[in-house]
Amino acid sequence: MKTFTRKWLCNIGVLTLCTMLAGCGKHEHTWTETTCTTPKTCSECEETEGEPLGHSWVDATCTAPKTCSRCSATEGEPLGHQLSEANYQQPATCSVCGATEGEPLQADFDKYGLVCNAELNVPRAFVTECYSNKECTTTGEVVFYDYEIFESDETHEAVDGYEWRAVTCKMTFDDKNAWDYGFASGDTMLDYYDIFTRSSVNYNGQEFAETYVDKDVLCDEWDNSGVYTEISRFYSRAPIGYDGTVIVLADGKCRDSYNENGNNIAEAATENTIFFRMDLDADDLDSTEETVTQDDSADTEE
Ligand SMILES: [Zn+2]
Ligand SMILES: [Zn+2]
Ligand SMILES: [Zn+2]
Repeated sequence: MKTFTRKWLCNIGVLTLCTMLAGCGKHEHTWTETTCTTPKTCSECEETEGEPLGHSWVDATCTAPKTCSRCSATEGEPLGHQLSEANYQQPATCSVCGATEGEPLQADFDKYGLVCNAELNVPRAFVTECYSNKECTTTGEVVFYDYEIFESDETHEAVDGYEWRAVTCKMTFDDKNAWDYGFASGDTMLDYYDIFTRSSVNYNGQEFAETYVDKDVLCDEWDNSGVYTEISRFYSRAPIGYDGTVIVLADGKCRDSYNENGNNIAEAATENTIFFRMDLDADDLDSTEETVTQDDSADTEE
């Protein structure tokens, strides 16, 4: 019995020694961090513990492939933009991210070098041929005023999504040539962006077919002193915010050429042709009114 006990104690001693020896043969692991693709790993013995984290994928976008937010690994290709076609107001635009490419379509007025040379409330000379003697010219004066934007009135009906823009044009001739031979002129209304299409306008890539133009002649007469006055109010119904309606006052040469050559204003316009673009919006009008008021008070003081 005594012997057995001693042996047993001895075995414990050996076991303890073995355990201690084994502990000395091992080392303190030097763990690296767990990454997306590798588990925690000892840099000395390459022993691993646990599992890799796996990538934390962020979905692919128009310009970037599927990407791991932790390690920036990528998979696959970017989706690419979903580009709309360019229109007169906007360049080609991605419907997903809003990125744009290129420029808006070029307006015909820019393309053909037509200049909107008349400004609101600023009188300008209008040189044109005489009516019954085309060797002669007469110089009149034209001014556009009373510009207004409205939804409807008694004679101009409201259409959903459209507004009316109106402006008055006063044209006077007071020289001898006009009195003796009359003057040649014509007027029309065109689109700044597309000079050939008159039945509709394209605004922000959408066709608007219920556009309408109209003119009221308010005065058209020679007075006793030989001065001719024509006052006309021009109306244009176009999409809300649309800035492309242009009033054309054609001098005689322009008018004849326009009528003879397929209504092509780019071909017909001369240096004397007057273009008034109805591009002022409500905000512009507010500031214009303020300016006019200031000018008026200045005039009164003089
Ligand atoms: Zn190790
Ligand atoms: Zn990753
Ligand atoms: Zn995009």
